Amino acid sequence: MTVPDINEERLWDRLIQLAEIDATPGGGVDRQALTDGEAEAWRLVIGWAAEAGLEASADRAANLFLTLPGRDRTLPPLMIGSHLDTQPTGGRFDGAFGVLAALEVATVIAGQGAAPERDLVVVAWMNEEGSRFAPGMMGSNVFAGLRPLEEIRAVVDTKGISAGAEIDRLLSAFPDLPVRDSGFALHAYVEPHIEQHVLLEQAGKAVGIVTAIQGKKTWEIVIAGEKGHAGTLAMNRRRDAVAAFSRISTALYTCVGGYDDVVKFTIGRVGVEPNAPSVVADAVRFRIDLRHPEMTALEACGELVQEICAREAAPCKVKVIPLVSTAPTPFDERLRDMLAAAAAARAIPAMPVLSYAGHDALQMAGVCPSAMIFIPCRDGISHSETEWAEPAHVAAGARVLLDVAAGIESFVR
Ligand SMILES: [Zn+2]
Repeated sequence: MTVPDINEERLWDRLIQLAEIDATPGGGVDRQALTDGEAEAWRLVIGWAAEAGLEASADRAANLFLTLPGRDRTLPPLMIGSHLDTQPTGGRFDGAFGVLAALEVATVIAGQGAAPERDLVVVAWMNEEGSRFAPGMMGSNVFAGLRPLEEIRAVVDTKGISAGAEIDRLLSAFPDLPVRDSGFALHAYVEPHIEQHVLLEQAGKAVGIVTAIQGKKTWEIVIAGEKGHAGTLAMNRRRDAVAAFSRISTALYTCVGGYDDVVKFTIGRVGVEPNAPSVVADAVRFRIDLRHPEMTALEACGELVQEICAREAAPCKVKVIPLVSTAPTPFDERLRDMLAAAAAARAIPAMPVLSYAGHDALQMAGVCPSAMIFIPCRDGISHSETEWAEPAHVAAGARVLLDVAAGIESFVR
């Protein structure tokens, strides 16, 4: 199949137009999941898709699908896309770039006249960001069978409104939209996204072929001591939870934070009880966020967390409560080779990069061969109104996706 080029101006104009929905005064976007703003974004994108002859549908988790029908509709589709929701102080490109680059690719392939072999599905996943309903990546988790729909529907926002009620409200705003079963079989999944890091920018590359998403473990640590009078209780009789926290956190930052030069270790939330200036604290609760691209190192650091907490807590007691544990997820090597070859064929400077953040592709990697295309974002800044991607990089990422989508029949599972 010979493939014409993407329309750079159309793609860029659509990015800017989409960013007008729920635009913030500072030039960003605040479009949280399952809001009226997201419905408006759906309407805009469905309209563009219809012009290109794509069929819109959704599933019960309010994932949006825009399908270019293939010649053999029994074949599992190729799925491409990302998400339309943002953080409260979000930018114009996180998520939107992936959906609109995918829509541009489907539009160009549709415009060729001959249908592709298999369906090409552009997806906009529900609630990737997890800022209104936490945790995020709800739509892809349901699609991948990792979380039941009922569990997702029960999650409430800060106003007590459930995700389920908002899913129903969004779907009822589109009465003509067919609602299909989630979790259908796929040939492959490719997600374009901004890098949210500086590696591509520093290397002067237009495109990153993502090797893997790093693994993550989180814990809540509860240190239990004993309350006392700050003026009268002798130092050697104290069971001071803040003193224990100080020893534990210092050892954690030294041993786990210094494990190697790729580990990421963070204590991002600390609570002291009773948190009174003249009372020896009887409790400290804190959260650990640990990330590493290699499973063995992630496990070794996890054991260090346990050991250090147990060793440094005395005379207080400590509870180490594991919360999240996500293994490092490598992307499909053959798809990565195809992406690299597509970039090379168009003389687009590309390199392999690790994803330090989670994405919907993490869930999809368990469903079908999956991959991601990164483009640089200025100074690595995202989840910010100042988030910016260069038009040339937006176009480069879409071109690599186009060539892989058009050549997907050469990809044999
Ligand atoms: Zn994103």
